[in-house]
Amino acid sequence: MDEFKLIQRFFTRSTPDVMLGIGDDAALVQPTPGMALAMSADMLVAGRHFLPDTDPFRLGWKTLAVNLSDMAAMAAQPRWALLSVALPAADAGWLDAFSQGFFTLADQWQVRLVGGDTTRGPLNLSVQIMGEVLPEQALRRDAAQVGDDIWVSGYLGEAALGLAHLQGRLALPDPTLALQHLEQPVPRVALGLALRGLAHSAIDVSDGLLADLGHILARSGVGAEVDSRVLARRPELAAELGKEFGLMAMLSGGDDYELCFTAPRCHREQIGALSDALQLPLSRIGQIVPTGLVVLDLHGRPMSISRTGFNHFAE
Ligand code: ADP
Ligand code: MG
Repeated sequence: MDEFKLIQRFFTRSTPDVMLGIGDDAALVQPTPGMALAMSADMLVAGRHFLPDTDPFRLGWKTLAVNLSDMAAMAAQPRWALLSVALPAADAGWLDAFSQGFFTLADQWQVRLVGGDTTRGPLNLSVQIMGEVLPEQALRRDAAQVGDDIWVSGYLGEAALGLAHLQGRLALPDPTLALQHLEQPVPRVALGLALRGLAHSAIDVSDGLLADLGHILARSGVGAEVDSRVLARRPELAAELGKEFGLMAMLSGGDDYELCFTAPRCHREQIGALSDALQLPLSRIGQIVPTGLVVLDLHGRPMSISRTGFNHFAE
C-alpha cells in the first residue's frame, strides 16, 4: 500500500463543512469572524508516552484526546486537526483500528481532520489542533486571582495507577477503570466550554496536579493552599489511597487529562450545578493565596513538597 492509498483509505473522510480538506498542499478553513484561533500540538512517542503494544483503537482515541484536552483547558471549541504519523509498517488492521479510535472521538466534537503528514519511521503520532474562542473568554494560566477557589475535575491518579499496574508495580484487583483512564481518557471539552465566564484560569492536568497547578501559580504570580482530603476518589480505590502511593498518584500522577481551574467564590453554586449537569465530580480543593504552596495530606497535616518527594512518577 503506498502512502497516498493509505491516506485515502484510513484518514480521508467527507468534510462538506470545510473549504478544502485533505488532498491539496494545504487545507483551507474558514474561521468564524471575531473569534481567536486557539492552536496547539501534542505528540505521542512509542515507548515514551505509551507502550508499543497498546490497543490501536485506544491509541487513536488518545492521540486526539490529549489535544482536545488542551482545547478544553482554553475553553476553545475544537474545530480542525492535522495528523502526522510515522509508522514502522503499513499494517492495515492496526491502521483501521487506530483511525476508528481517532474518528470516534473526532465525531463526538465535530472535529474535522483536514490534513497531516505520513512517513515511515519509529511509531510516532502527532496532532495539531485548532479551535475557536472569544479572546476575552479564553481560560489562561496567568489569570488566577487571590481568593479564587481551586477546583479539579474527575478522579485524579487513576491513569498513574493503571500505568503502575501495567508495569507490575501494583496489583489492582480490577484494573479496568484505571486502564481506561490511562489508555482512553475523556477530554473535558464540555466542562471547558461551560466554564467560560465562570472560571478565571485553567490548565489540563497532564503532568500531575501539583506540577500543573504550579504552572498557574507561577504564571499568575500567586500561591495556593490545597487540601488533598477533599479530592474526589473512587470508593474502590480507598484501600490504595490509604497507602502513600495512592496519594502520590492523585497529587503527582500524570496522564489524567482532567481540568484544574480557579474561579471566584461567587460562582461556587453554578459550578456545583455544572458538576450535576455534566455528571462529573468537581472537587473544590483549596484557595489561591498571595504566595507559597501548602498541601495538606490525608490526615490534614502539611506535606513537605520537595521535588524528590514526587519522583515515583518521573519515569
Ligand atoms: P505534500 O507532499 O504536499 O506534503 P503529502 O503527500 O504529504 O503532501 O500529503 C497529501 C495530502 O494528504 C495532504 O493534503 C496532506 O495534508 C494529507 N495527509 C497526509 N498524511 C495525512 C494523515 N496522516 N492524516 C490526514 N491527512 C494526511
Ligand atoms: Mg507532506
